Amino acid sequence: MDIQRLEGLRGCGGAGFPVHIKWQAVANEATPEGGKVIVCNADEGEPGTLKDGWLLNEQPRRVLLGMQRAAAMVGAVRAYVYLRPEYTEQLRFLQVAINDLIEDGFLSPGSGAMWNGAGFPGRSVQRPGHPLPPQEMPNIAPAAATGLPLRLDIVLGGGAYICGEETALLESMEGRRPQPRHKPPYPTQSGLWGLPTLMNNVETFWWAERILSGEIETPGSHRLYSLSGDVERPGVYEAPVGITARDLIDHFGGGVVNREQISCWIPGGAASGVLPASCLDTPLSPEGLKEVGTSLGTAGVVVYAKPTQPVEVAAEIMKFFADESCSQCTPCRLGNRAFSDWISGVHEWPEPEVTERWLEAMELGSICGLGFTAPLVVRQMQRWFSEAVV
Ligand code: SF4
Repeated sequence: MDIQRLEGLRGCGGAGFPVHIKWQAVANEATPEGGKVIVCNADEGEPGTLKDGWLLNEQPRRVLLGMQRAAAMVGAVRAYVYLRPEYTEQLRFLQVAINDLIEDGFLSPGSGAMWNGAGFPGRSVQRPGHPLPPQEMPNIAPAAATGLPLRLDIVLGGGAYICGEETALLESMEGRRPQPRHKPPYPTQSGLWGLPTLMNNVETFWWAERILSGEIETPGSHRLYSLSGDVERPGVYEAPVGITARDLIDHFGGGVVNREQISCWIPGGAASGVLPASCLDTPLSPEGLKEVGTSLGTAGVVVYAKPTQPVEVAAEIMKFFADESCSQCTPCRLGNRAFSDWISGVHEWPEPEVTERWLEAMELGSICGLGFTAPLVVRQMQRWFSEAVV
């Protein structure tokens, strides 16, 4: 089957990287002794985002079939679902779906083993890029060696927001503190235990399965929107990319609670910043949101009715980032705390040029997306709510 059929589908975890390029990169890698690996990122932690948890409750089989197809297309021999530990209900549905797929011959017998930080057999002091010797790898017979279908297991996450970042997730799986790695090498080249690793999130595998099974002809035409906040019917809705937030709120969400006026809204998870009500007719697409200085991210739309103030929302977001920074980089560790204190009024804002230097330091000096996208929240406040910030 042709990986190019996925062209148009972008990763749904936040960064929006083209899926077919990532899959092709892993397919192009030579197969090492330990084989290639598939990882499903189910560590959904972006505030305002709930579609992965919903999918694992509603359609876990399709997500797993997407992983199985990926394995067949890139030549992987083992796969893992890295699951957010709070998703206990989803874990039960996943286990049922795995057992069904073993019976149907898609997964090898023994699939569904549970690993956690203490028991994961890949635990080691070895550094990234230095593969473990085969005898230290999990005692799992590769599919290619046995002729059996894919071996797929579950790893319970540690409960940290940063574990949703792909290289921090790999560090966590290898039993270390989840601090993001420098890239390159990319996980497609050197991922779990130094093996070529294809990682996508739950929704991405779900769309891939629907596309590759022929159910969907136009990859990337729709997204799953998580709609929450002050709406009558919060939930997860499948809708076209490019729908406006106003249509999403009115037609799917039943409007704003008590017909209050909208104060502000978030378009794609907390990291996408806060927009004013005047932007509600912006298309929810990468191009449309770029026009207003942000991105579609996780498509987690959060609505705030009056009297909530935008500055209160931004202060909550910056406090969250300050609390969840892994502290590896100084600009992120200190910058998020400083902006949290300034926005919330704990300390007075510095001079505007000092603020700008802090923002640039975070944008240029952070290793991962948490650090270099957090300034977007401040820049959005400067653009749309300048009376509330310096
Ligand atoms: S940017 Fe922040 S979260 Fe990312 S590695 Fe640096 S300190 Fe950790």
